[in-house]
Amino acid sequence: TDPKKVCIVGSGNWGSAIAKIVGNNAAQLNNFDDRVTMYVYEEIINGKKLTDIINDHHENVKYLPGHKLPPNVVAVPDVVDAAKEADILIFVVPHQFIRTLCSTLLGKIKPTAIALSLIKGFDRAEGGGIDLISHIITRNLKIPCSVLMGANLAGEVADEKFCETTIGCKDSKLGPILRDIIQSHYFRVVVVDDEDTVEVCGALKNIVACGAGFVDGLGLGDNTKAAVIRLGLMEMVKFVDVFYPGGKLSTFFESCGIADLITTCYGGRNRKVSEAFVKTGKSIKQLEDEMLNGQKLQGPFTAEEVNFIFPLFTAIHKICTGQLLATDFIDCIRNHPEHM
Ligand code: NAD
Ligand code: 13P
Ligand code: CA
Repeated sequence: TDPKKVCIVGSGNWGSAIAKIVGNNAAQLNNFDDRVTMYVYEEIINGKKLTDIINDHHENVKYLPGHKLPPNVVAVPDVVDAAKEADILIFVVPHQFIRTLCSTLLGKIKPTAIALSLIKGFDRAEGGGIDLISHIITRNLKIPCSVLMGANLAGEVADEKFCETTIGCKDSKLGPILRDIIQSHYFRVVVVDDEDTVEVCGALKNIVACGAGFVDGLGLGDNTKAAVIRLGLMEMVKFVDVFYPGGKLSTFFESCGIADLITTCYGGRNRKVSEAFVKTGKSIKQLEDEMLNGQKLQGPFTAEEVNFIFPLFTAIHKICTGQLLATDFIDCIRNHPEHM
């Protein structure tokens, strides 16, 4: 069989870090084509196209500065050009852009392609409720979509600091292929079949991270943050129980669960901006623009999407949108159903 062609759809902070691993693996392994395409949303930086900068200097100077990408990773500004020949599509864009990308790709990709989503977030379903991003990809592009979520701050992965990750894949034939293109000596993969739980963990932990940031902004302590993490975890478990019944409790003990909660609540962007939100009184949108240089927050949107289902998530959404003061945050969780 021909070596499989891989396309990375996205080139932000995480997209660029994963391109480094995938590019190296594709070059080393015979069952993958060396050339990996990476869809780059084009922008001009100091008069030059970002795609030209990446292809000439092998560095995403805007979203992952200071790290070289393997030269076999080729930046492509047109998503259809990047994706049309791919056997494996790795989706890694901020979740607010996935629907538009799917409609652009519809009918333009190989019908036999498979997808892996690294996107942490939900979307609102047409008739109310929420949709998983992997389900949107499968429904719109008519290809199977597995997920990868874990305690994976992009900068640390790019620095090759050891970490674990979780692939959720129901198909036992596809799991090993996806693991091979992703795993490295510093990026260790565990494959589980509980796809939906893995994805729900990745989405919901970003909301909890906003709560952790509020705690930091309020000058509260590590004990308070641990309480927020624990209550957030309980809400995540309950969420899966109610909306994705059949999910396994053991999945929360994988990297995508408790480990990602911890790392994001200490080192993530959602935490950082939420802390500044409390300290400065500026809006989340303004701080995202000021602090992240084009990178995107997923937590405030996801909180909106699951709004009003659970107290901690709801309180965080209300604080993010100015409907509630951060100083009232703890009162909202003091009488949490967990304590009744
Ligand atoms: P990012 O936050 O760096 O976002 C910027 C990216 O969005 C850039 O590539 C930019 O070109 C692109 N973009 C901006 N406008 C666009 C548009 N209109 N259409 C398409 N793309 C557009 O992105 P990221 O960090 O790679 O995050 C992608 C996903 O990966 C998110 O769901 C995030 O939660 C998840 N994730 C991130 C990290 C991390 O540490 N950064 C780790 C694990 C998972
Ligand atoms: P932030 O988007 O809050 O930086 O979280 C990154 C992440 O998902 C780490 O696993
Ligand atoms: Ca190869």
